[in-house]
Amino acid sequence: MTGTRDALEQLRSTLADVLGFDDAAGWSDDELLTNMGALECLGRLVDAHRAAFAGEVAERSRLELGAERLSSRKGCRSAAELIERVTQASAFEARRRIALGTATRARAGFTGEPIAAQFPLVASALAAGDLGADAASTIIRELDRTRPVADPVALATAEQALVAEATGRGDGAPVCATADELRVQAQAWSTFLDQDGREPDDERAMRHRGFRLGRARAGLIPVSGDLMPEVAAKLTRLFDAHLSPRSGTGFMTDDERASLAETGEQRTSDQQRHDVLAAVIDTAARSGEHPTIGGAAPTVLVSVRASDLAAGRGRAHADGVDIPISLRAARHMICTGGTQTVVFDADGRIIELGAQDRCFTPHQRRAITLRDGACVIPGCSVPASWCEIHHVIPDVDGGPTHPDNGVLLCWFHHRSIDTSGWGIQMVRGVPHIRPPSWLDPGGGWRPATKSPTRLADRRERRERPREGVA
Ligand SMILES: [Zn+2]
Repeated sequence: MTGTRDALEQLRSTLADVLGFDDAAGWSDDELLTNMGALECLGRLVDAHRAAFAGEVAERSRLELGAERLSSRKGCRSAAELIERVTQASAFEARRRIALGTATRARAGFTGEPIAAQFPLVASALAAGDLGADAASTIIRELDRTRPVADPVALATAEQALVAEATGRGDGAPVCATADELRVQAQAWSTFLDQDGREPDDERAMRHRGFRLGRARAGLIPVSGDLMPEVAAKLTRLFDAHLSPRSGTGFMTDDERASLAETGEQRTSDQQRHDVLAAVIDTAARSGEHPTIGGAAPTVLVSVRASDLAAGRGRAHADGVDIPISLRAARHMICTGGTQTVVFDADGRIIELGAQDRCFTPHQRRAITLRDGACVIPGCSVPASWCEIHHVIPDVDGGPTHPDNGVLLCWFHHRSIDTSGWGIQMVRGVPHIRPPSWLDPGGGWRPATKSPTRLADRRERRERPREGVA
């Protein structure tokens, strides 16, 4: 053992003698490139041994050894941690070396008989210093994932072809493929090996499908997962339908079209998709076609202290998420029909229990839809069925749950109504809108509707005097 360590020490000092750290600055171009290639050969050999050592550490730290695991005996949770501590490599690098070392390591069977490495050709090219660690890792990663389904003979052929390409012995050019070129080739092999695997793509997809809500970070809940292609297609259609630029034949008035041209869309595509999803969820929850919870429609319970709500400070809490929600979000949910709100006073007593009559009924909703047509904010294309009903005068300020006090707003315009600068007021039961001052300085109130029938009424009224003149 000491012999090997001494020899390695000697190699290190020899290298320092041969190569000064800033020698490269004094070389010609050709010298620089030639020396670079020669040093790389040495580096590949070193990398191969690093992987082999890591594979050995992993082998001696395998789970079934229990307390006898090398990693446990050295006070580490895993082989990777032990390697990190000895080498000061990153966790990622330690795991990469273990994977490479394990896949290229000769193994022993149950009775001690030797079994070839999982990737014997990669192993010998690596040991000879012909194959770099990153190229070897690429071949192993791409081919290994096909192992459960690939024909073993075809898998061996693929390994042979890829090692040949990487070491300049392939049928193509006598030039060694770079690690990136090799990745492309390895992926092509991987697709080929897996194409008519024993398991159809669809079954594999079904097993891997999933949708997850992650742990909150920075006030947001990350989502991740893998959608079945047909589900992704439907979702994409929903997004497309609502994010595509509005055609000029829609229900937009000239005023609205002008204001849209001025404002453009302030939200990013990601934000717009989020808001479409919010509308889809609300629409689904409202549909009455979903399983009930305890006999009631799926209801999100929002708790907020009455004093906070009155003062406009503090946080609210929604059932089902770990992080608090803002008062603005709480007010939004309180305003939206279909959310039952429980308000506590400082002692924890329930002083207000949202009652059914503060939710707009389906009957009222139909009437409001007929009057407003869609989200009443000019330039917004979200249709009525995806809108929420906003109490123009909030319920807490005595605003009634009556069509004269409710207007259609999409999720985004409802959520941002306090801060966006858009004004809404009801004049004898008709919604009037005032644009934000930055958009229309000194602008006044004007009636808003996107209802096709009411727009037809309005056109008729405008045309009648003109007919008189003609
Ligand atoms: Zn809107």
